[in-house]
Amino acid sequence: LTKATFERIKETEPTIDAFITLNEEKALAQAAKIDENGIEAGSLAGIPIGIKDNIVTKNLLTTAASKMLYNFDPIYDATVMEKLYDAEMIPVGKLNMDEFAMGGSTETSYFKKTKNAWNQTKVPGGSSGGSAAAVASGQVVASLGSDTGGSIRQPAAFNGIVGMKPTYGRISRYGLIAFSSSLDQIGPMTRNVEDNAILLEAISGWDKKDSTSAQLEVPNFTEGINDGVKGMRIAVPKEYMGEGIAPGVRKAVEEAINKYKELGAVVEEVSLPHSKYGVEVYYIVASSEASSNLQRFDGIRYGYRSENVKDLEDIYVNSRSEGFGSEVKRRIMLGTFSLSAGFYDAYFRKAGQVRTLIKNDFDKVFEEYDLIIAPTTPTIAYGLGENITDPITMYMGDILTIPVNLAGLPGMSIPCGFSDEMPVGLQIIGKAFDERTMYRAAQAFE
Ligand code: GLN
Repeated sequence: LTKATFERIKETEPTIDAFITLNEEKALAQAAKIDENGIEAGSLAGIPIGIKDNIVTKNLLTTAASKMLYNFDPIYDATVMEKLYDAEMIPVGKLNMDEFAMGGSTETSYFKKTKNAWNQTKVPGGSSGGSAAAVASGQVVASLGSDTGGSIRQPAAFNGIVGMKPTYGRISRYGLIAFSSSLDQIGPMTRNVEDNAILLEAISGWDKKDSTSAQLEVPNFTEGINDGVKGMRIAVPKEYMGEGIAPGVRKAVEEAINKYKELGAVVEEVSLPHSKYGVEVYYIVASSEASSNLQRFDGIRYGYRSENVKDLEDIYVNSRSEGFGSEVKRRIMLGTFSLSAGFYDAYFRKAGQVRTLIKNDFDKVFEEYDLIIAPTTPTIAYGLGENITDPITMYMGDILTIPVNLAGLPGMSIPCGFSDEMPVGLQIIGKAFDERTMYRAAQAFE
């Protein structure tokens, strides 16, 4: 299986460009050992998986798609990697992404432009664009991505696969290169719902190395997965179906709503009135946290160091000037500004307050409903190069996924049809730590 995976990758990489680094030698050795020892039925042993390149992998290059980390060879594994190795899954390589997960099209990568699996003139979405395209093009059956404002769900939608951003705290962030620590979560990306549930179970759980990971038992995520949605109460926020949603996307989601009704769910319209401020709040919160998190890249401890220096100050300034791309610099400047004396109250503090309002809206809906459904994205995948020079258009593309991160809730995207021959994603949002109900609804749709 591992050999076949590398064959498939080599055959398709020239058109997809999903991988930054391949792990062929070690993967084949790991697979050979598993063959020797034998595999128990139902185990994940020997199943190849792709890893987003912001997840730290011991002795395997981890770049976060940045020149700043072009030669970073970690001396430890992220907790999710330890869990994959415990399950004897086989990491076949590191997947392309937007630099430090900042972006929505994988075009801010320092290394390459990944292509959408369905049409190579279109973006794969982002920031986990490599993780989505690799699964959708059949290079791997599963991958890990990370989602700060939509980076698992949006590329899953653009490539017609299943992507889960679990509840904040479900999975350890230890070894995930930090972008915005109060929003980041790792999650599984797969071809179908059941695989996704199985993989989530393998990587979940409390970790003493991440103080924000939740001290909860890991549920059996596949239990009851085939129980259907009869009697389930599903809410559709009217703000997520209105202006700005492409007609083809709205049509596919309306058909999904009808299907849920036919399957016996009660589907009703609700309001999430503060979600419309999500993008503004997100770009203050996420950029502020990023400006702090990215201070560690100083050209001294690890990563890229400029050679063009006269003194210590030059090492810092020139290494960062040459090592970071323009989107990363834009976020650092925005974040430093919102955190600075004189602007903190007007921006960072205010954003925190509006974040609470956004969360309260969700809490209110979940007093009466089991799930919320909506489109994952306002549009289908757009052309390579089409939006990348226009940050505002790029930022608005995450308007339907960002509120979920701000509220710390689980959100997933499943395929729900096509528009102009490109996949459309249906977003399912659940109560905190209730991924199981989401999988049940997702499975009923499949
Ligand atoms: N597209 C959003 C951004 O650029 C979300 C990225 C993410 O979830 N990592 O920040």
